[in-house]
Amino acid sequence: MDNHKYLNKRRWLREFLLSCLILLIIFYVVSRLDLSEKLYAFSRAYEAIDLDEMLFSLGLFLPIYIVIFAVRRFGELTILVRESSTDGLTGLINHRRIQALLAQEISRAQRFQRPLSVILFDIDNFKQVNDSHGHPVGDAVLRQVASLMSAAVREVDFLARTGGEEFMLIATETDGALAQEVAERLRQIFCEADFGIGRPVTASFGVSQLRSKETASALLQRADERLYWSKREGRNRVSGLAARFAGSDNS
Ligand code: GH3
Ligand code: MG
Ligand code: MG
Repeated sequence: MDNHKYLNKRRWLREFLLSCLILLIIFYVVSRLDLSEKLYAFSRAYEAIDLDEMLFSLGLFLPIYIVIFAVRRFGELTILVRESSTDGLTGLINHRRIQALLAQEISRAQRFQRPLSVILFDIDNFKQVNDSHGHPVGDAVLRQVASLMSAAVREVDFLARTGGEEFMLIATETDGALAQEVAERLRQIFCEADFGIGRPVTASFGVSQLRSKETASALLQRADERLYWSKREGRNRVSGLAARFAGSDNS
């Protein structure tokens, strides 16, 4: 929403200046053609038409209508902007929005030298849930996952559904070790929850901490590699600092 073209302050200023220019042009034309005098003479000559009352009514109606129009358009625009950032199924923020938030949080963390971590997680064998219970039950599981996870994270964190059964948490002011504990807590919540399908639903996690001068894609790639490692090691686990795979180190 922050960088939206129509909610940009500079754009409002441009719109205002444009309105002033249009007003000046109308004023110039009306004065040059002496329109008000002509209108007055016309209304005196044809009093039966009630031209002055008509114009007066129009003058009252237009600003009222413009306000109603603007309020409606603003409402619609707000809904559109909100929908473009939200995942329709779970109500979490979507991939597009979390990417913008991640870029924002990375620049903040780097500027003030604060820790920042991301946790990626993916539901294990989710295809089997759909295959055995049907897509609507799969959808209900996704909604329940979203609500359990939202309730478990801090308000200052950002939780998104980034794809089918994939989620991302931006853990602000959190180093890798703490983020790993958070991921472990979330993993346990999965294990303990009853999803109403007669068996547990688990998830695999990958955690990474932002390094200095690192880009969002490098940070995410490291978390993704660790998530992949969790899957390869047998699923239902967290990989972070101590992930034993080529290129692993302490962040
Ligand atoms: P893995 O443990 O390796 O992640 O296995 P998986 O079965 O979870 O992964 P895979 O990528 O094979 O399948 C993901 C499944 O997620 C397939 C797809 O039907 C399901 N899925 C994706 N989006 C939705 C959705 O919005 N609703 C439902 N019900 N299912 C979805
Ligand atoms: Mg999966
Ligand atoms: Mg997946």
